[in-house]
Amino acid sequence: MTIEEDSDSKLIDLTISVLDKILYCTWGDGQVEGLRWDILRSACPCVVCKGDHKPIDELNPAPYEEVILIDAAYIGKYALRFLWSDGHDTGIYSYDYLRKLCEWTQKA
Ligand SMILES: [Zn+2]
Repeated sequence: MTIEEDSDSKLIDLTISVLDKILYCTWGDGQVEGLRWDILRSACPCVVCKGDHKPIDELNPAPYEEVILIDAAYIGKYALRFLWSDGHDTGIYSYDYLRKLCEWTQKA
C-alpha cells in the first residue's frame, strides 16, 4: 500500500443500486454521493457523445431515462468506464469528473 496525494478525490468504493437507478460513490474523504444513471449517461465524456464539450450545467438526462447501467470497470487508479444497456461503453469518467458531477447533482 502506498500513500497517494489527493486521496480526498479518490474513489474508495462503488455500489450500483438497481432499485433506485443510482450509482453510489464512496470518496477518500468518507463522503458517499449518489449519481442518477440518466445523468451519468448524459454526461458521457467520449468523443461520440461530446460530453466534454458542453458544461455540466447543460446536461440533458431526459433521453436516457430508460437506460440501464450494466457494469462499471476500473481504469487504472483514476477513472471508470461504464457499460450501458444501449450498448455504449466508450466513455472514460475520471474520478475528478465524477466528483464534479456528484457536486453538481447535489446542487440541482
Ligand atoms: Zn459516450
